[in-house]
Amino acid sequence: MGHLQWSITRYDRALPHANALSMDLAPLQPLLTRTLVIVAHPDDETISCGGLLQRIQEPCVVFATDGAPEDAYFWKKYGSRENYAALREEEARAALKQVGVEDVEFLSRQSESPLVDQRLYASLPAAFSALFAIVEKWRPDCLLTLAYEGGHPDHDSVSFLSAQLGRRYSLPVWEAPLYHRSPNGDGVYQRFVEERGEVVEFEVKGKELEAKKGMLKCYKSQFDALPSFNVELERFRPQVAYDYSRRPHQGKLNYEVWQWRMSPEEVSAAFVDFSTAAAAMER
Ligand SMILES: [Zn+2]
Repeated sequence: MGHLQWSITRYDRALPHANALSMDLAPLQPLLTRTLVIVAHPDDETISCGGLLQRIQEPCVVFATDGAPEDAYFWKKYGSRENYAALREEEARAALKQVGVEDVEFLSRQSESPLVDQRLYASLPAAFSALFAIVEKWRPDCLLTLAYEGGHPDHDSVSFLSAQLGRRYSLPVWEAPLYHRSPNGDGVYQRFVEERGEVVEFEVKGKELEAKKGMLKCYKSQFDALPSFNVELERFRPQVAYDYSRRPHQGKLNYEVWQWRMSPEEVSAAFVDFSTAAAAMER
């Protein structure tokens, strides 16, 4: 990200948008009212929808994990996992302040057990009941989440949880891609694994782009880890009816390339277990 010259511009929600009339937002209309944005980690929201967030009338952003993995590799320079989680929360709050988003929820704080980064798939019931409480309280018109793409198991988990919530509440669910691997193992950014004609692109420009760059600048702890993505482009579509009992695609998943300890089969098995238990409860 070092090639970008970032400048912080405070975004004022009351100001008219300079380019509001130049883009056809009609296909994105369902996303622009009272939308609950459900992501896994601080910075996911900036990368996937930092521009669109500025167009949503009443946005609420939920971070489903505490952003701090168990592995000391990620947090040792901050002293403890808890310190690192606190720093990431602070960065997320600062980033969302840049674009005037006041409703922010850290799910791990509201769940009966901590929702540890990389381990969301192992805490689906606790995460779901905390999300359920937020939906009951906040009553969104629409959900926006991440794609099921095998980039990160937590991204796949919020995709699954949002699909469950959407079904339970008959809410429209939309999704945005972050990253995955192509069949030959290359990193692919901001593209869905399988795309047809249903993707709506949102071009981030002018003041909104400056504000999005201001959001990115708040994530100082992630400067070395942020993937190379196009800050001027965001892409959305209605969530696909995924089969979560199967891996997101047949090629090597990104987290397999990273040699993380969970397997895609283990993650899918957790989704199946949750669905089975939820179906039994509904009977
Ligand atoms: Zn993430």
